[in-house]
Amino acid sequence: MTQRLKVGEREREFLRTRYRGFYYRNLDKLWMPRSLPEREIGFLTFGYTYRRHLSFTDDAEFKATILRETPWGIFYSISYYDDPGNAVMERKGWKGADLVFDIDIKDLEPPCLKEHDFLLCDDQVLPYTGAGDLSGDGGCKKVDWICPLCIDDGKDGVLKLLDVLTRDFGISPGDIQVYYSGHRGFHVHIEDGELVSLDRRSRPQITEYLTLSGVDPKSIWRLLPLAEGEMNSLMGWPKRIVERASQVLNRPMTLPLANVLRKAKRFNSLIDGVIDDLRISIDPQVTQDISRIFRLPTSLNEKTGLRKTRCDDIMSCDPLVESVVFDDDPVKLHVTYAPKLDLGGYTYGPYRKTTVRLPTFVAVFLVSKGLAKLAI
Ligand SMILES: [Zn+2]
Repeated sequence: MTQRLKVGEREREFLRTRYRGFYYRNLDKLWMPRSLPEREIGFLTFGYTYRRHLSFTDDAEFKATILRETPWGIFYSISYYDDPGNAVMERKGWKGADLVFDIDIKDLEPPCLKEHDFLLCDDQVLPYTGAGDLSGDGGCKKVDWICPLCIDDGKDGVLKLLDVLTRDFGISPGDIQVYYSGHRGFHVHIEDGELVSLDRRSRPQITEYLTLSGVDPKSIWRLLPLAEGEMNSLMGWPKRIVERASQVLNRPMTLPLANVLRKAKRFNSLIDGVIDDLRISIDPQVTQDISRIFRLPTSLNEKTGLRKTRCDDIMSCDPLVESVVFDDDPVKLHVTYAPKLDLGGYTYGPYRKTTVRLPTFVAVFLVSKGLAKLAI
């Protein structure tokens, strides 16, 4: 089991002071869930404890508590309840839930993860090459990093998801909000009246559709049209598969293409490749688990000090710039180790056992990762 590096007490106080300042200055801009009195709220405190089953009667009370307690992480339930503060899940009285999707960049397996993720074993830095590296070695901590390349892969994953949600599910783009999580993911929130009532049993069907987990590549040919007239009536995944194959094989979307694919059951690598291209990588647990609490949009991510930030236009959105909220006042730090970091439009590092003055937003990032101590 991977563990995060712990942040020392002095460093947590440094972070807490910055977080308090941020929430004080941005209280008006803090995103508030609709129907707040029906939501469960959770806080991660700077003492490393999770407080769940909190509830608030209105936005003012919620915001006042955020200012007073300055949580490290702020979470809200995607579900609506009669009694959200009840600590027994079954007694909360479930009324409905927003539909949310989590695109975890790690699951997209971008090649850069092997370049920048690492293990810190006591004071030694080791490359991280896979989950097996940690077996039998309790002294090692895994450190996850971010760079523009993996963020771009995440954005591609979001675009694939948005395409299916709008074209196949008919969800209006205006009902979909995309957020960069502030670390290694994107969250897609849908607040559509009809979808809110989808229960625990229906949600897996959505994730199955998106991840193509129910599609057997060997039997895909059965879904293909046998007559030219049927090509126009193709819908959903069969249509997407034919479309993608048309691009891969550079052939028009006509019956001869369907015939090629039908024969492709004999060389499944073509179909496997097409399905792999189309499969949407979402964390099924996040969409299916309606008792989950989710990071509050516009709040700070305790893993980085970056804000969970709305990406209105995923193509032009620049998460590693737009999620930076702290200033560039210099902070002197002892850095144990840090790979190259692209943040706020500049590149920092790499650093190895060095004392350096860095802008506050970079200092907050490295301290949050447990890789730097204050040198004051
Ligand atoms: Zn990367």
